[in-house]
Amino acid sequence: MKFENTREFALRMDAEDKLASYRDQFSFPQVNGKDVIYFVGNSLGLQPKSAKEYVDEIMQDWATLGVEGHFYAEKPWWDYHERFSEKLAKVVGAKPSEVTVMNTLTVNLHLLMISFYRPSGKRFKILCEEKAFPSDQYMLASQVKLHGHNSSEAIVEIKKREGENNFRTEDILAQIKEVGEELALVLIGGVNYYSGQVFDMESITKAGHEVGAMVGWDLAHAAGNVELKLSEWNVDFAAWCSYKYMNSGPGNASGCFINRKYHGKKDLQRLEGWWGHNKERRFLMEPEFQPEPDAHAWQISNAPVLALAPYLASLEMFEEVGMPALISKRNKIVAYLEFVLHEIDKEVESSFEVITPSNQKERGTQISVFLHGEGRELFNYLMKHGVYLDWREPNVIRLAPAPFYCSFEDVYTFGQILKRGILDLHETKN
Ligand SMILES: *Cc1c(COP(=O)(O)O)cnc(C)c1O
Repeated sequence: MKFENTREFALRMDAEDKLASYRDQFSFPQVNGKDVIYFVGNSLGLQPKSAKEYVDEIMQDWATLGVEGHFYAEKPWWDYHERFSEKLAKVVGAKPSEVTVMNTLTVNLHLLMISFYRPSGKRFKILCEEKAFPSDQYMLASQVKLHGHNSSEAIVEIKKREGENNFRTEDILAQIKEVGEELALVLIGGVNYYSGQVFDMESITKAGHEVGAMVGWDLAHAAGNVELKLSEWNVDFAAWCSYKYMNSGPGNASGCFINRKYHGKKDLQRLEGWWGHNKERRFLMEPEFQPEPDAHAWQISNAPVLALAPYLASLEMFEEVGMPALISKRNKIVAYLEFVLHEIDKEVESSFEVITPSNQKERGTQISVFLHGEGRELFNYLMKHGVYLDWREPNVIRLAPAPFYCSFEDVYTFGQILKRGILDLHETKN
């Protein structure tokens, strides 16, 4: 497609955009009396206006029904979490029985590692990406310690090649082979939070299985962003948070995928609680645990329905729109953002370096840009002028024009603010 860096062109793209009307279904923060250009949906998605109704419904049921709300609420609380499975399964490419919603992301990864990181003998190593999201690093190190191993020995990091911004699939596959029978688990972020690189989850999962390892994915930056086929790829387990691309609200619940081949397996380790118990018999308060026949067996506590409510509201929107439509718009708007960045770079002779892969298959909504020239001052300028984006040390801004609520005009206007910012900063320096 031939792009133009003009408002007319951006407006034409918006007029053709089938998802354009969804913008009005979200609440935007304001700066200087105007809606911001919100490029941080990869960090905290905007609030769907319907979220409030879903929360109010539970507040109302609680007020009028009290404890009876567990069974007689409009959406009864005792199995509220089951409302997610079918819709969420479509977002991550799973069978409904393989998906459940509970706790928060790092907590779920810990719980899943209890089941799927079972070091024994010389098979005790975990393969992850270098500079993984810090919470994942702490989690992996503490799990390794829990099993009596030393993290410097047990954790193997995949490295990028000298001078390159992204990981090469061939290097990851080679490293999996090399660690071979010492490899207990591969656990990588499906989309790298820093660069936005999408990993080849299918090939990596296959390679992990070939050497006899388990393969799990942290899908924090992948769920609701990129195409996932967890069942087809035969992934063992995965977890994601819902507050990034899935717009569920700050710190909100996490989703889990547990491959159906592990359901009902008796010799599997798992930390258990009453919400994973056979739902028909849950309130008989029997002493012996009888697991649910599906991913819900990993549930522990009764569901935090007030938190789940906005997640459900958002998920209804994903159900309505579907991932293919979101991905189709995403591809266009991200390509347009990249084009606008290059145009501005030429006009002002700045020196941005896009560190996200340019190949559509290897990226999602996020573009990460290394600011060789301006750095933090430019970031501050953009925030002050109504562009919400984020900053990562040492010199990287991350831009994620979420297809649900960002417009092509946003991208064009962002480019103009960026250009003015760079020119202003050059002037004050000279
Ligand atoms: C955002 C993110 C997290 C956050 O974990 P919480 O437990 O929800 O606080 C973890 N891992 C990755 C890769 C992330 O991007």
